Parts: sequence; structure tokens; C-alpha cells
Amino acid sequence: MRVHVPFPAQELILSKTSRHHVVVIGSGFGGLFATKAFAGDRDVAVSLIAKTGHHLFQPLLYQVATGILSEGEIAPPTREILRRQRNARVLQGLVADIDLENKTVTARFHDKQYVVSYDSLIVAAGAGQSYFGNDQFATFAPGMKSIDDALELRSRIFGAFELAELEEDLENRRRLLTFVVVGAGPTGVEMAGQIRELANTTLSNEFRRIDSRDARVILLDAAPVVLGAFGDRLGGKAKRELERMGVEVRLDAMVTDVDDTGLVVKLKDGTTQRIESACKVWAAGVQANELGAVIANATGAELDRAGRVKVQPDLTVPGHPDVFVVGDLAFVDGVPGMAQGAIQGGEHAAATIMARVRGEETPGAFRYQDKGSMATISKFKAIASVGRLRLTGFPAWVLWLVVHLVAMVGFKARLTTLLRWFITFVGNGRSERVTTNQQLIGRLALKELGQGITGPLLRGAHIEPDSVTPRKYD
Ligand SMILES: Cc1cc2nc3c(=O)[nH]c(=O)nc-3n(C[C@H](O)[C@H](O)[C@H](O)COP(=O)(O)OP(=O)(O)OC[C@H]3O[C@@H](n4cnc5c(N)ncnc54)[C@H](O)[C@@H]3O)c2cc1C
Repeated sequence: MRVHVPFPAQELILSKTSRHHVVVIGSGFGGLFATKAFAGDRDVAVSLIAKTGHHLFQPLLYQVATGILSEGEIAPPTREILRRQRNARVLQGLVADIDLENKTVTARFHDKQYVVSYDSLIVAAGAGQSYFGNDQFATFAPGMKSIDDALELRSRIFGAFELAELEEDLENRRRLLTFVVVGAGPTGVEMAGQIRELANTTLSNEFRRIDSRDARVILLDAAPVVLGAFGDRLGGKAKRELERMGVEVRLDAMVTDVDDTGLVVKLKDGTTQRIESACKVWAAGVQANELGAVIANATGAELDRAGRVKVQPDLTVPGHPDVFVVGDLAFVDGVPGMAQGAIQGGEHAAATIMARVRGEETPGAFRYQDKGSMATISKFKAIASVGRLRLTGFPAWVLWLVVHLVAMVGFKARLTTLLRWFITFVGNGRSERVTTNQQLIGRLALKELGQGITGPLLRGAHIEPDSVTPRKYD
């Protein structure tokens, strides 16, 4: 039976409120904190539109990928977070277009398309993974940007150990037990450290034919340093600690090819080397969301090399004082692509809009307050740079623990996270090791079938695989 696909769907005009209507795109740090900043304001109504129904605490994605936390702990429902904020509503949908002349945003949720008009717009759509022009690498080396990515990686990591246990051929077994992480920034370092810990401790007594401690974890970067943003001293400490745990750190090594069984790196001296590896993780580059290009095309605003919109000092788009771009999608000199940059940017945009609506003086230029940065390396080891303070080892790890716990959204999530950290850090166990074939194959299957398949499925359509031609549903 073939399914009827009602695509493109008719437009649904959501009525405009009589109050000043702010549309916020994105429920990440920028979008959520901008929305929350309007709480209690009677002159403003906010519609938050985001492609996912949750707020994602990206800094702990690697813990979902390595079985420490569940996805629910780092991704609470946006509706629940905002349930008491009566001037805010949540709409799920992927924003596909912004019409700056008519002041409307067009979004779709599965096969339902709708249009929302705005008086002010805050775009906080974030950034995705960059493969530096080699998007085909993504098939073999998933990135780490979403819950889907983290769950897919969890399936790939634990699945590689399982297959190795079943493998007779020594070469194949070695390939299955070689994990390569590309990119020695905080995400890459945290992933490499956690895979090493899994192999060294959590899994060390669980297999009978393989010894998980034989696994190789290789961390690659084209740059000559680990954690470059933290400076030479902290980066050097992190590298030594990784190596002490058994992570092979290879710097000045640029990945030039990735395929199903391994990858090729070009070294500083110009020679190339192939590494056989079944499980690859891409944590190397960042590319701004495509809505940046939509805004640039409509307004002539400049984009930087990563596709971020070069905004005015008050975070508005040149020539469009009613449109703000904040967070990872905005380029502001001196503001890093970090949670605090997005939070403070979102709050600044909200403060500017509220001041305008009340006819008060606006805050003017955005001033970023650097609250420091930190990264974990292994159990009980981290590095932190806060103001002039440089911490390493256990004190940095305790600081990291407290800061992340406080920053998480929701009491329930904090409580269960604390419990799971206790299980992992005190007992070496991991309570979130469920893996499914859906996690493993979902991303690539969707790419094959086309996103348009999800609407019919939600409406109860019966889909026979044989009748599905790739992209038929887009
Ligand atoms: C793995 C990882 C680890 C990190 N670790 C740290 C850390 O330790 N400390 C730190 O400070 N920062 C860290 N960061 C960076 C930090 O998470 C980002 O800087 C921050 O999330 C940026 O916030 P944002 O609101 O701009 O974007 P995001 O938080 O990425 O939010 C973007 C939102 O836009 C939505 N969206 C995207 N496209 C559309 C569309 N077309 N239509 C509708 N909605 C859309 C998304 O669903 C999402 O809700 C990390 C990032 C990653 C990926």
C-alpha cells in the first residue's frame, strides 16, 4: 500500500496577539533564556519555535553517548520548563523561511506547515557540525550535536565492543577495538577520555574473549595542541593526563578521508597514514545554522567563514532593528561559541525589546561577561580557566561538577544526574547502556527516505519498505 503524503501542507496562520509579539527561534541556551527573560512582562507575548521539543544541555551530550546519563536528564521538555510563564507559548517546528519584509516566520512540524507573524524576532538557531566541505564523512563519523547523535554514538561504541567479542579474525577485531575521535577541543577530549575509561574500568570484567583494555582510543587534531583555547599550560596538562590514561594523542594530523573501515590522516611532514577503525567520532568543526544564510540573503548582512551572521553591537541585523541574532549563530567579536555567550546574548536581546516596548532607554551595545571555561578529562580530572584562576586535576573537576549541576535545568534532572554521577564516579558503573538498532540506523535511514516520511508515519500510515523509493517523501 502506498501512503498519501499531504505535502506541502496548507498554511496555518496563527493569530497575532494584540500585545507586542516576539518570536524566538530555538530552544537552546540563547532561545530559552531570551524567552525566560520576558517572564512576567504583560506588554509582551512570546512564541518560541524550535525543531525539537526539548532544551538541550549540550555540554553533557558526551555522557549520554558513553552511558552515564539518560537523554531525559540533559533534555527536559521546553513546554514543561515554560509551563508557568503565561506570556509564552511553545510551538514545535523547523523554521524553513523568514520573511523580513512581511515580518513572518514559516515553520513545519512533520507535514504541517504554519506561518507566525512577529513584531520582534530573536533568532537563536545555533550551529551544527562542520566537516570542512567533506559532508560525506558524516556517514561514517557522526558528530555530537544532538540527542540523536549521542544515542547513535552510544550504539556504535558499545556495538563495536560486542562485535569484537564475536570476531575470530584478529585484524577485524583490532579494527573494531580502535576508536578514533577527531578534534581535540573540549568535546573531543571528553569523548576520548570517556571511551578510554569505559575500556579501562567499566567494561574490563564483562567480556570473556576480548579484553576491553586492549582497545585503542586515538585523539586526532590538525592543530599542534590539545584544547587550544585554554592555552599551552592547561592544554599540555590535559594531553599528559590523556596519555597517562592510554589515549593516543596525535596532533598536526589532518583527516583527509573517512570511510567505513577507517580514515586517512595527513601528517605535518606531508606523509599520509591510514588508521583502521570501525567507530569514528567527529568533534572537529562548527558550521552555523542555515538560517544565517537566509538572513544574509534577505538583508545583505555579512557572514563569517563559519556562516555566522555579523550582527550590530546591540545584536540586531544591520538595517533590521527588530531582528536579533544571538548565540552560536551570531558573530560578535570577543564572544565565544559557548553557553554563556548565548545566554547573555538572549537576555540582552530580550532586555532591549522590553525597554523599547515600554519606551525606555535601551541597554545599547551587548557586553559579554566572561565566566570562564572548563573541560573534564577523566574521572576526578579536569582543567578550568576562570578569570585569572587556572585550575587542574581534582579541584578543577569539583568545580566542573558543581558548575554543571547548577547550570542544568530542573530539580529532577539535577537529582538524578547526581545519582548517576555517584554510580559512575564512585562505582565505575554506567546505568544508561541501552542501545537499539533504531538509534544506530535512524539518521542514515531518514536521510535515505527523506524527512517527509515522518508525517505520514505519525498519522498512522502503513509503509511497506519495498514501496519506498529514496527521497520519495520529500
Ligand atoms: C558537544 C558539545 C559540548 C559543549 N560543551 C560546552 C561547555 O562545556 N561549555 C559551554 O559553555 N559550551 C559548550 N558547548 C557550546 C554550547 O552548547 C553552545 O555554545 C550553545 O548551546 C549555543 O546556544 P544557542 O542557543 O546559540 O544554540 P543551541 O543551544 O545549539 O540551540 C539551537 C536551537 O535552535 C533549534 N533550531 C535549529 N535550527 C532550527 C530551525 N531551522 N527551526 C527551528 N529551530 C531550530 C535547535 O533545535 C535548538 O533548540 C558545547 C557544545 C557541544 C555541541
